[in-house]
Amino acid sequence: MVIDSHAHLYWKRFHEDRAQVIENALAAGVGHIVVPGTNVATSGEAIELARGTNHLHAAAGMHPSDCMHDSPESRETLAQLMADPECVAIGEAGLDFFHRDNPPLEKQEACFRWQLEKAIELNKPIIVHCRDSHADTLRLVGDYPELRGVLHCFTMGPEEMQAYVDLGFHISFSGVVTYPKNKTNREAARLTPEDRILVETDSPFLAPQGHRGKRNEPAYVVHVLKEIARVRGVDEKTMAATTDANAKALFGL
Ligand SMILES: [Zn+2]
Repeated sequence: MVIDSHAHLYWKRFHEDRAQVIENALAAGVGHIVVPGTNVATSGEAIELARGTNHLHAAAGMHPSDCMHDSPESRETLAQLMADPECVAIGEAGLDFFHRDNPPLEKQEACFRWQLEKAIELNKPIIVHCRDSHADTLRLVGDYPELRGVLHCFTMGPEEMQAYVDLGFHISFSGVVTYPKNKTNREAARLTPEDRILVETDSPFLAPQGHRGKRNEPAYVVHVLKEIARVRGVDEKTMAATTDANAKALFGL
């Protein structure tokens, strides 16, 4: 069994054939899929998708690109969703300086800190989004030593990986690790400690090599797994068992 630790199954691009997409995943050996919200509405949708299933699990939070909507009202609703038993993690949350129309650092930081504190209060892991924001992300998560969580869609190299591992974090690799140019990311995947490594798709984005340019879906997490097994010199079954055990431990599945 494999776990896709990050897929946005509520996204518009899945509206027409979501049941089939989930079938494809199960047929490919994907036993669990974590569905993280990006704002109040999608966090609610993630929880409703997960409710009553054994294989879908939700996370509730506010993505940095949505944090212009951070307000006392949104926090109140999100806090209720975060406390729902279907919600296995907080997020996705973090900092994103890539998109120029994102809110400024102060606004992103306030929203992220609130979620880091909710993760500690609720004793749930945090799913961290970090894009062009490594120094500030590291500074913020480093302020909370009791925090558990995962750096999702990790695209950086060994040095950055080690910094998060030293803070107790897990590292989740996506289809980016399969792209020919991304040598340093593969080197990070090779060196990540065995008890900290996870795999994900970040569907519908970032389809792995061979499916690039198309919609990504959870079944394709096996391509990520295959590449990571290759760079680490282990067989796929062993790699699947390792990432499966790590995800179950982190998310309490
Ligand atoms: Zn995401």
